[in-house]
Amino acid sequence: MASVRSHENIELMTYSEVEEVSGYVGNFKAKIRKKARYVDESKCTGCGECFKVCPIELNSEFEMGLSKRKAIYIPFPQAVPNKATIDKRGYSPCRVTCPAGVNVQGYVALISQGKFKEALEVVRRTMPFAAVCGRVCTHRCEAECERGKVDEPVSIRALKRFIADYEFKAGREKAVPVEQTKKDRIAIAGSGPAGLACAYDLIKKGYPVTVFEAESAAGGLLRWGIPEYRLPKSVLDDEIEYIKELGVEIRTNTQVKDLQELTEQGYRAVFLGTGAGISQRMNIPGEDTTGVIHALDFLKQVNSAEKVKLGNRVAVIGGGNAAVDSARVARRLGAGEVTIIYRRSRVEMPAAAEEVDEAEKEGIDIHILATPVRVLSQDGRLTAIECTRMELGEPDESGRRRPVPVEGSEFTVEVDNVIMAVGQAVDKSGLPENLDFTDRGTVSADQVTLETGIPGVFAGGDMVSGPADAIGAIAAGKEAAESIDRYLSGTDLREGRPTQLTRVQDVSKEGVNTKTRADMPMLDLKNREKSFAEVELGLDENAAIEEAKRCLSCAVCSECMECEKVCEAEAINHDMEDKYEEIDVGNIIVATGFQEFDPSVIYQYGYGRYDNVLTGLQFERMSNASGPTEGEILLADGRRPESVAILHCVGSRDENYHKYCSRVCCMYSLKFSHLLREKLPGAPVYQLYIDMRCAGSGYEEFYERLQEEGVNFVRGRAGEITDIAETPEEEGKLIVICEDTLVRRKRRIPVDMVVLSSALEPLADAEQVARTFSLSRKADGFFLERHPKLDPVATMTDGVFVAGCCQGPKDIPDTVAQASAAAARVLAMISKGKVEIEPITAIIDEEYCAGCKICNDLCPYKAISFDEEKKVSIINEALCKGCGVCVSACPSGAITARHFTTEQIMAQIEGVLV
Ligand code: FAD
Repeated sequence: MASVRSHENIELMTYSEVEEVSGYVGNFKAKIRKKARYVDESKCTGCGECFKVCPIELNSEFEMGLSKRKAIYIPFPQAVPNKATIDKRGYSPCRVTCPAGVNVQGYVALISQGKFKEALEVVRRTMPFAAVCGRVCTHRCEAECERGKVDEPVSIRALKRFIADYEFKAGREKAVPVEQTKKDRIAIAGSGPAGLACAYDLIKKGYPVTVFEAESAAGGLLRWGIPEYRLPKSVLDDEIEYIKELGVEIRTNTQVKDLQELTEQGYRAVFLGTGAGISQRMNIPGEDTTGVIHALDFLKQVNSAEKVKLGNRVAVIGGGNAAVDSARVARRLGAGEVTIIYRRSRVEMPAAAEEVDEAEKEGIDIHILATPVRVLSQDGRLTAIECTRMELGEPDESGRRRPVPVEGSEFTVEVDNVIMAVGQAVDKSGLPENLDFTDRGTVSADQVTLETGIPGVFAGGDMVSGPADAIGAIAAGKEAAESIDRYLSGTDLREGRPTQLTRVQDVSKEGVNTKTRADMPMLDLKNREKSFAEVELGLDENAAIEEAKRCLSCAVCSECMECEKVCEAEAINHDMEDKYEEIDVGNIIVATGFQEFDPSVIYQYGYGRYDNVLTGLQFERMSNASGPTEGEILLADGRRPESVAILHCVGSRDENYHKYCSRVCCMYSLKFSHLLREKLPGAPVYQLYIDMRCAGSGYEEFYERLQEEGVNFVRGRAGEITDIAETPEEEGKLIVICEDTLVRRKRRIPVDMVVLSSALEPLADAEQVARTFSLSRKADGFFLERHPKLDPVATMTDGVFVAGCCQGPKDIPDTVAQASAAAARVLAMISKGKVEIEPITAIIDEEYCAGCKICNDLCPYKAISFDEEKKVSIINEALCKGCGVCVSACPSGAITARHFTTEQIMAQIEGVLV
């Protein structure tokens, strides 16, 4: 390979694929896709430092799965070029599903290596709220996690929380302020997750950013809505402090009402992230009675450490997070009987299912399919609520079934307090006047750019989407930051948006053993009484590492960027893209090879189930001095086998798989036996064969030599391999069950290792390769040569030759001979300097051609195309072989074969008859 590479007349294009071939012999154009290596070949020194830090491990294809490689790798030590390549297969479902695009696979992979600091860095590349989202995120990523198809999804949220807590407990180092490289000042109204995420991205881009917050402290509903036992304020404060340390200024107790004022103060762009912070009313009689309180007011009082007094019986109306949080807070404040009244069924409750479960464990009753219609009071004092039962009708616009009141089903619940948690709305009174609103009462903004009707003013988060979740608000803040940056730099706001991440397809689950998901340790119920101590306690270090190891690394490279950090040559470039090149070539030799038959489909042979059942290629690697065991023959547990069986014809000469003989297996099986006798002296070796095919000079002699060496030859195809012992000497062994047809008896042969001599079969993408190069395939799937005896290297397409196992199973000498023959054919053509083509070709009379295109698809040589301008078919005479298929198929008789016109044929007949 090295000498091929250095030859002045050979250009070696590795990691490249031929995508398209057009033209004809002497004049082909090949479109080559040079796949992105993500490593600059000219800089990479092949030092391998990047392999050491890459957290992703997968089976090495070169070592046939007997050893591992990293996502950044050089396939084998002698690879040409000896440069690293990064294996990327798209984006993991967790990352694609996260609204903010957090690189989940990246931080999970680093946790699995115990690199917690680096893992947190990965989260912070996208957003600053690892601790907050590690506690309260709605974790849509987990719903899409591929691990869920094996057993349970990876506990992603808990892992994110772990890395944040790890830093928090150890004491966070102060963040280094970002250098402000831009002059344009930006104002942000609202310090909820949307506003702060926007500020975070803008400060990192170098803008001076000021956040204005109407309340006395920053955080939005994370502070005033979500209770302490789910999200401790110290955790939230720390993440806000981190944003401030980077350079974001937060001015609390400052409401933004006048945009003009901001412009006058010199702000060039504004982001509004003021949320949907007021509780919706039910508008039922008695709603203003003392003792009725709305959820956001109630939670805000509690979260600001105000004294809130409740009676013993509390009803909470609603089914969302605010309702469940209010109910659990009411219990903690001492209410004895807390009931959630919800108008739909349990599964339709919008609150997180795990929160509803915990509420029930804490003693809260959930009364479904009911809604209050009236608040009852006596002497101005709340006494009860009158409710009506509901049933589910047709689905509404949210897709959930509409609750319909059941007539005459009213009932009364005696209560001391009612907490109304039936929704949130945007407080228009606290916002600048000139904004546009939707019919739903939310602020109107462009769905992609988040631009409002006012130039330079952007809006996002709950105020635009309506009440949603924290990660949605963070995503909106990030989008707005991108828009503001484009707006201020005068670039198009829309181009390339929304970002599309291609989700990885067909994630392999091969060899994945089930392993249960790590349980989140919880505060016991007794300690929750009258306490706001955090309920979820977080994973410990070991549990986090083990949980992270459950990740299937769907996208292979996780883009954690650890390789970039250690590459002294600065060769890594994760933004590299595939490149296309068109080259002119006169001839093409197709030598795409074969693949090994996968014996796991023959269940009874146990491949993939028993560790010590190997394929021929695996044994080949194992016995190689540069292989994974440095040439030692070892069992999976590291012992040396004391006996080995080699099974011939696995997948070949078998009606169920391939009828053909794979031709090379007898000889390589003999070679394996010889190696085994040499490497494991004294260990019995068995060959189970149908008949030995040792044709050719010296091969039969080699077979005889092995018989003399003491290899046991058993004539018979093995029926089964099992580990179920029937005698003491079979204990702990693999037992090969077969019929020895020479002595006509069933045998059980106990061995330590079994090698399956698997068939050689066409590559999985042979059909596509055939289409690209206009090749035909034989019934067995290998490429068809022009003539099996007289022209075994040419194909039906002039100028395209085949060599090696893509044309059929063959050994190395035959492959080399065929390749040399193909090269000679090409050289002969080059030295001639011209090509001969068929004189008998078809011609189309344009006047008669109806443009039906029937001939286009029929032509086996792809010689006919369609001229869109003239609307007629045209024949490329260099490709046409004059087979006449188009002549007979043309419905309008427009095609004739040169030298075979009716007149010419008649003239010939006349000539014969005269
Ligand atoms: P907000 O968080 O509402 O922040 C808006 C901020 O703007 C507020 O601080 C407000 O004071 C300020 N503001 C308003 N007007 C002005 C003005 N004119 N000038 C300056 N400042 C102004 N989501 C989850 O993902 N998981 C959960 O478990 C979860 N639980 C929840 C529990 C409760 C009880 C509630 C109410 C919500 C919960 N949410 C949860 C939803 C989540 O909190 C919100 O979706 C998210 O906070 C919205 O972010 P935001 O930035 O758009 O708005």
